[in-house]
Amino acid sequence: MFSIPLKPFAQRYKKSIFDKNLSMQTIVNQDFSSRRVIVRVDFNVPIDDQLQVTDSTRIRAAKETIDYILKKGGSCVLLSHLGRPMGKDPKLTLSHIVSKVQEVLEVPVTFFGDCVGQQAEAATASLTPGSVILMENLRYYKEETAGDIEFAKGLSKLGDCYVNDAFGTAHRAHASTTIMAQFFKDHKYFGRLLEKEVNAIEKVMKSGDKPVLAILGGAKVSSKITIIENMLDKIDHLIIGGGMVYTFVKAQGGKVGRSICEDDYCDYALTLLDKAKAKGVQVHLPSDVIIGDDFSNEANKKSCKVDEIPDDWEGLDAGPETLKSFQKVVMQSKTILWNGPLGVFELENFAKGTIALGEFISDSTQAGAFSLVGGGDSVAAVKQFGFEEKMSYISTGGGAMLESLEGKTLPGIAALQE
Ligand code: AMP
Repeated sequence: MFSIPLKPFAQRYKKSIFDKNLSMQTIVNQDFSSRRVIVRVDFNVPIDDQLQVTDSTRIRAAKETIDYILKKGGSCVLLSHLGRPMGKDPKLTLSHIVSKVQEVLEVPVTFFGDCVGQQAEAATASLTPGSVILMENLRYYKEETAGDIEFAKGLSKLGDCYVNDAFGTAHRAHASTTIMAQFFKDHKYFGRLLEKEVNAIEKVMKSGDKPVLAILGGAKVSSKITIIENMLDKIDHLIIGGGMVYTFVKAQGGKVGRSICEDDYCDYALTLLDKAKAKGVQVHLPSDVIIGDDFSNEANKKSCKVDEIPDDWEGLDAGPETLKSFQKVVMQSKTILWNGPLGVFELENFAKGTIALGEFISDSTQAGAFSLVGGGDSVAAVKQFGFEEKMSYISTGGGAMLESLEGKTLPGIAALQE
């Protein structure tokens, strides 16, 4: 099969959609009556040893789009991947999730054991309005991740129009997430989830009320460089937390003991502080931290100044003085982005800072600020500590969210706008 080379595609979109005013053709007010709508969803859900879905967030996130299409007289052909199968691995068949999909959607869902080819086309050809069919795991075919154009063309034969609602894979130029859009020139649409994700990011990156605050935590500076650089043009305040802090502290001559620290990035940390200053961004680093004598929940702990950590101790959470000053900044902000925890929140004894930050952002949101939480661990923390309903928006896409914050164009989104 002929494959589209991925690089030239990405190069065609040098600018982020968040830097341009591109239109979004959404499903809202489209006429789907008697149309078979291919919906690329992200049903890549966790499954336990008993083959039960342990977290159905992603299925629930697609419900609004599917409901809408059905209500408008269409039928849905659901396409998704599950895991990273090497060939047709029976452990990763989407048949395992059919009953959960049915339970969440509250409509009957049929399953078809393939996603492409004549038999798959025959299975979708006879769909009647209001029906839903879930096709087999796209990644059973290596052509999916290769972005193979013939495979994409085969998928496109399953319906009359195309809706992408899989934000979690929008950063991949795969056959079903990107390449296939070209076969639906005037009939390709943003699903409700994709639309909400793009709007939330755009609000932070472009149109949010000031002051705009970014809170970047997590383990390492090295993994957040592009995000920090990109955000500096868009924000008024930057809170730096988590393990990243110690690279900055050491760069400024402080003692960080055994804290996580990337010596290779000390110079970069200083450059970044200079850049922030030049751009008028106020950077807030912790003044005190909670340190432990071991990386474990049983460690002895105490608070100390951030730059006076004894040799055998390590910084594992934000301290009380720091939290007070962070609270002020959060409460003053009108637009807030949170990515990365303030400490090792997985250890109960060092979760206090992350929980407190969740409370501050909840309070600020309650007072009218817009808050967006995105990227892996902060989303996990928000869910774990019960702040899910208190944030304005929680992104469903880890990698896609991070790439958006880095200012990259997501191929899945660009393909809908061509
Ligand atoms: P990231 O994926 O970069 O957002 O990092 C998230 C991880 O950073 C979580 O697993 C936290 O436990 C970890 N983390 C946060 N603060 C610290 C710290 N002070 N020392 C070591 N790891 C930390």
